[in-house]
Amino acid sequence: TAFDQLGLSSWLVDALGSLSIRKPSEIQKACIPAILSGKDVIGGAKTGSGKTAAFALPILQKLSEDPYGIFALVLTPTRELAFQIAEQFRVLGRGVNIKETVVVGGLDMMQQALDLSRRPHVVIATPGRLRDHIQSSSGAVDLKNIKYLVMDEADRLLSDTFTEDLEVIFNNIPEKRQTLLFTATMTDSILALSEAEEDPKKRPFL
Ligand code: AMP
Repeated sequence: TAFDQLGLSSWLVDALGSLSIRKPSEIQKACIPAILSGKDVIGGAKTGSGKTAAFALPILQKLSEDPYGIFALVLTPTRELAFQIAEQFRVLGRGVNIKETVVVGGLDMMQQALDLSRRPHVVIATPGRLRDHIQSSSGAVDLKNIKYLVMDEADRLLSDTFTEDLEVIFNNIPEKRQTLLFTATMTDSILALSEAEEDPKKRPFL
């Protein structure tokens, strides 16, 4: 199987080729067509499996078709992962001039608020700092147009540390969205969340 057979446009296949990536990984074969067709997905995958490209590629393709507002929100548990994910969006998204912003703790709130007010297509965030922005008086972050919610390392995101942050975030993004969940291990809380995604009324935070 090649990337074009998964439904990706030639500009993305070319971007992959420039990185010498020619063969989709298992997680990419499973997820890319499903995400392009509008489905929610749960991917069981560790770092190194190509999971970042598995969600970044279809999001970039959709972005090229409909570039409006903040488009995708990627939540990840650590700063390092946030920067790595942003780098892959930047490299793969060159062809569409993608605007992405990293929102993580330890960096200047004001600069991040300014970046957010410029309406990036993709926001890659750790939950605590994104919550700070949602609750700050500057009102810079508008998540009303989110079409994709990515939960990277969802098993770690659903640990107690982030519960209250996620509650605030989930209450500020549209109920109607496509949720892409990636996890190294399958836990009860992930199963509960995925069932809830199918039926918004069951969402634990709403
Ligand atoms: P990840 O699992 O998302 O952390 O990706 C690990 C690394 O694999 C990244 O540097 C990607 O650029 C690279 N990569 C992603 N997809 C593929 C692929 N299909 N073949 C080879 N390398 C890939």
